[in-house]
Order: sequence, then C-alpha cells, then structure tokens
Amino acid sequence: MQRNIDTLTKTIREYLDRNSLTDPSAPWEIKKSNLGGFGIFASRPIEIGEVIFKDHPVILGPRAALTSPLLCVNCFDKDNLKPCERQCGLRLCSLECQNSSNHQKECKIIRQWQTRPIPEEVSEKLFKVLSPIRSLLLSDQDKAVVKCLKAHRSDQHGFEVNVMKNLLHFDLKENEEVFMRFVCSVLDSNAFEVIVGHEDHQSSIKGLYPLGSLANHSCTPNTIHVFDEFQHMIVRATVFIPKGAEIFHSYSRFIWATPTRRFHLYKTKHFLCKCRRCQDPTEFGSYVSAVLCKVCKVGRVIPIDPLVQNGKWQCEGCGEGVNRKDVASLSSLLGSALNSFSPEDIDFMLRFIDKKLKTLVSENNETVVEMKYKIIWMLGHQQGFTWTELSDNLLFVKEKFCKDLLALLETLRLGQCKMRGLLLYEFYRCCNEAKRRQVKSGNVSKICENDMKNLLSEVADILMYDVGAPAEIKKLWPDEMKLQEQ
Ligand SMILES: [Zn+2]
Ligand SMILES: [Zn+2]
Ligand SMILES: [Zn+2]
Ligand SMILES: [Zn+2]
Repeated sequence: MQRNIDTLTKTIREYLDRNSLTDPSAPWEIKKSNLGGFGIFASRPIEIGEVIFKDHPVILGPRAALTSPLLCVNCFDKDNLKPCERQCGLRLCSLECQNSSNHQKECKIIRQWQTRPIPEEVSEKLFKVLSPIRSLLLSDQDKAVVKCLKAHRSDQHGFEVNVMKNLLHFDLKENEEVFMRFVCSVLDSNAFEVIVGHEDHQSSIKGLYPLGSLANHSCTPNTIHVFDEFQHMIVRATVFIPKGAEIFHSYSRFIWATPTRRFHLYKTKHFLCKCRRCQDPTEFGSYVSAVLCKVCKVGRVIPIDPLVQNGKWQCEGCGEGVNRKDVASLSSLLGSALNSFSPEDIDFMLRFIDKKLKTLVSENNETVVEMKYKIIWMLGHQQGFTWTELSDNLLFVKEKFCKDLLALLETLRLGQCKMRGLLLYEFYRCCNEAKRRQVKSGNVSKICENDMKNLLSEVADILMYDVGAPAEIKKLWPDEMKLQEQ
C-alpha cells in the first residue's frame, strides 16, 4: 500500500474511532519528518502534562525474549496456568480464559495447523510466537492498519515463523506465512513493551500501537507514555511543546551514554540516532559519556564528533587525544564489574563509587549513574534492606542518590519523564522514613509536611493513568480515574 499522509491519517483516525478513542481536540497531526518517513507533530502548543493521544493495541501478545516467563495467554496472569483442554498447546489460568472468544479463535487456527501433538517442552515456544499468529485473526480493516506501518526488511526477522514451521511442524498456508513474516518485522521495529498487572504482580508483554509507533525516537523525548488498565497507551507531554514541533518518544534508556544508546538502537531498531543529545559531545553538559584523562588526571575525555563511530576522543583539559577503543574497553570493564555486584556487596559498591570510579570517570558517567540507580532500587526494597532495616547512613545514601539522579535528568532536559516520577517517589519515601525515625526518637521532625504533599502530588501527576503506579499514588488521582480503576 502506498504510504502518504492522507491515507495514513485516515487509516489511523478511523482505527482510533473504531476503538472509541477519538478526541476532536487532540493536538497531533501526521507530517513528513526531517528524519525521513513520517512523524507526529504538535498541531497547536501543548502544555506540560497534557494528553497528546491515546492509542489501542492492534496486536497484543507475549514477548519473544528468551527470559519472558509463561503467562495466561488471555489475561496475562502468571498464576494457576494449565494447558488448554482442547490441546492447542497454550496455557491459561481458568476455564473462563480458556473459553474467551479471543482464545477460541487462536485455539482453532493453531489446532488446524498441527500435524502432530505439541510436546510439553516446546509449548513454551508456541507461547513466544503467539503475537504474529494473532495478526491473522484481525479484521480486514485492522490488517490494513498493520499494513500501513513501517517494516524493516531484514533476514533476522520472522524467526517466529521458522519456529512454527521447523519446530512446531505447523502446516501453514503460503499467504498466512507471508503475512506473518511481514508482521514479525513490523512488530520488531514498532512494538512497545507493555506492563500489565498491579504493583507486585506485574508482567511485561508487547503491543503494537499504530499511532504510537509513528512517533520517532529521540534520546531527549518530549513525551511520556504509560499503559492503563485496558492496555491503552497514553502519551503526554513532559515539556512544553510549541506548535509545529515533532513529537518524540524514546526507545532507549536515559541513563546510558551516547555510544551505548546508539549501539543499542542500531542493534534493536536498526538506525543510528542523530538527535540533539547524540550530537552534543557533552550531552547537554551532563558528561554521561566522559571518562577522566590519564595524562592530566582532571580533564574530561569526550568524543570530538559523537556521530562518528570509532572517531577520536579528546581531553577537554590538556587536549590529549584518546582512542575510542580505550574508552570502550574501560566502559565494558566497568560494566561487567557493575553486573557482578549483589545486595550483600553494598558497602563494597559504595566504596567502589566513592574511591575507584572517582579516579576513572566523570561523576555522571553511565557506570556511576547505573550503579546509583541499582542501589536506589535495592535500598528500601530488597530483603535485608527494607525501609525499617536500613541504617541511618544507608537511608541517607539512598536519599542523596535520588537527588543526584533527579538533577541529572534535569540536566538532560527530560522534563516530567517517568523516571523522574519514580525517583521522586523513592525520594518521598526516604523523607517519610526519616520523619518516622525523628518522631520515634522523640525529636521534632524537621521535614515539612507541605513539601512532602507537593512531592506526592507531582508524582501522582507524572504517573497519571499508569496501571503500575503505586497504590498510594493512585489514591491521589482525580475521582473519574479512580472509578475506571475498579
Ligand atoms: Zn487468564
Ligand atoms: Zn486452546
Ligand atoms: Zn539520540
Ligand atoms: Zn588531560
């Protein structure tokens, strides 16, 4: 199908309409992007926090990743899984899920393909290739939506179809195979990781969101996307977006340095990012990529042109040139050190950051940041380090690391992004625990009640609509959203 702005806009608008997600005042339009292809643009100025659009998944299913655990294929619950009684080879949590109309359809088509029973040990493979199978069950209108999305043509796509043929011995019709191979590559370039379930009971699946997938990537995105109870994607502005500006989201992690992000994006999404952050050797003055100079000891070594792969790096202080290879091997060495730490090593980790890393890399280098991030999620959460078990010193460390990372996100111009919401909440919990300790020891709390309230309401605002938001946060949402939750 010929992709042009008018047909694309019409297809997407009709799709949203079919799913009751049309909002006449929604501030977006599809236009040609400077990055090549199409993109989504602000059709009027958009305020911070404003909903830009909501989207519905045209395909929703398990992820193909090796580590994804088995889930009920209907409700994505993890518990009480039993093989389908009709022996399609999939697992479900209840009779209700087994007899749902969605499962009945896929159950039937899978059983028609079967040339032999599916042994227990390969049923997991079937689970992981279910998403492309689901594309065959779409209405013609929805198939047309999938067809207008961009796909990368590359041999590595469509391994799911190979699994169906070679491992599961499915007897696929040729047109089914062709369409599923196409869908695999559409999913590969466009699918989002979707979080389902509540706080302690979350799993991750993947969803294809037609409008969401038209938004291009930037390492400094201007939006946040979250998923609600019904797996709708809600996209909101994290910064003020002027009329005519392109709407971006991020496929990468904010705390990674430019070489890491660009490599990851190239491997998973097949493009080399050239966004504002990637172009800037200092990454907006954050120095997330920088290592320290071995010659003058204090200068920061940064890439001369970060868009040139394997290009030269140079010390800002003394001008000493450094090979990209040397920077890369230091980064991978530190990366593997980072991965080998466990919660029991916490004292060692803190000394490592304080003594060792200070002499090797800039204070916001990705290894330092990643380590702090890891520690933030250990303290207060893991066994032996729950809130009441934390020493005063570790509580202080956690609070400080939250502040450090929040400052970094600001330097990176990320606005009201999800990570800010999560870190603010952890910071709030530190204040809460510190306050509890002050009161318990008979001291008057120095922590201002109003500041705490403001913190919490900012978190509630950033994480609005997010099904995974903590219960304490959901309580602060407007009443009409609480009704939705029930
Ligand atoms: Zn279920
Ligand atoms: Zn079945
Ligand atoms: Zn970038
Ligand atoms: Zn130097």
